[in-house]
Amino acid sequence: MPPAAIAFPVRLAAVRARLAAAARAAGRDPATVELLAVTKGHPPAAAEAAARAGLRAVGENRVQEGVAKRAACAAPALAWELIGHLQSNKAALAAAHFNRIQSVDGEKLLRQLDRAAAELGKVLPVLLQVNAGADPAKFGADLADAPRLLELALALPHLRVEGLMTMAPLGATPAETAAHAARTFGNLRDLRDGLAVQFQVPLSELSMGMSGDLEAAIAAGSTLVRVGTALFGDREV
Ligand SMILES: *Cc1c(COP(=O)(O)O)cnc(C)c1O
Repeated sequence: MPPAAIAFPVRLAAVRARLAAAARAAGRDPATVELLAVTKGHPPAAAEAAARAGLRAVGENRVQEGVAKRAACAAPALAWELIGHLQSNKAALAAAHFNRIQSVDGEKLLRQLDRAAAELGKVLPVLLQVNAGADPAKFGADLADAPRLLELALALPHLRVEGLMTMAPLGATPAETAAHAARTFGNLRDLRDGLAVQFQVPLSELSMGMSGDLEAAIAAGSTLVRVGTALFGDREV
């Protein structure tokens, strides 16, 4: 058995303890924060281990890698979420193979996903990715463009917008990274609160927080932390 498989339950317990402590510190019920296991760069066995441990879903950041892994994975009930940048020419493939797409950040992509979902005869759950930290190195809609993007998304009948997703910029020092995280996650939370009122939709999912910054994300209201490294160790690619 590879070392990663032996370590997984131990790593999972540690991540769950961090999540619970962060929730309690924020006065929140730990059950209101879901753990999404990010299996990118790891074999299908990682997703199977997550399923065996009772996790609902795994996250992948590349379409082809996720599609291949899902096909090779013996965990039929597991949900697969796309968390990485999606080019519109892969929209149909992604719509067919993922249960939710978190990285929707443009009009063209929205329209192609809606068309693909219509052809599949389904309503596809999505999150809008927002570059809430204004990081030039990150994908996501600008904060100022989010209302327009949401307005379009809500008008597309084969998409269901469940909330927002973001990633925080890295800083040059741990203190700077922490400051970026607090600002970015607070921005996403404020944006969501404003959009929910403006458009009268719940947008209940706030997907934010990774291995390094899940505490800051939970303090700001995250409902879904996307954790790879802390669960599975360093990636192979
Ligand atoms: C890789 C990735 C994660 C997980 O990052 P870790 O630091 O390994 O926990 C979360 N979200 C996205 C969008 C990712 O690409």
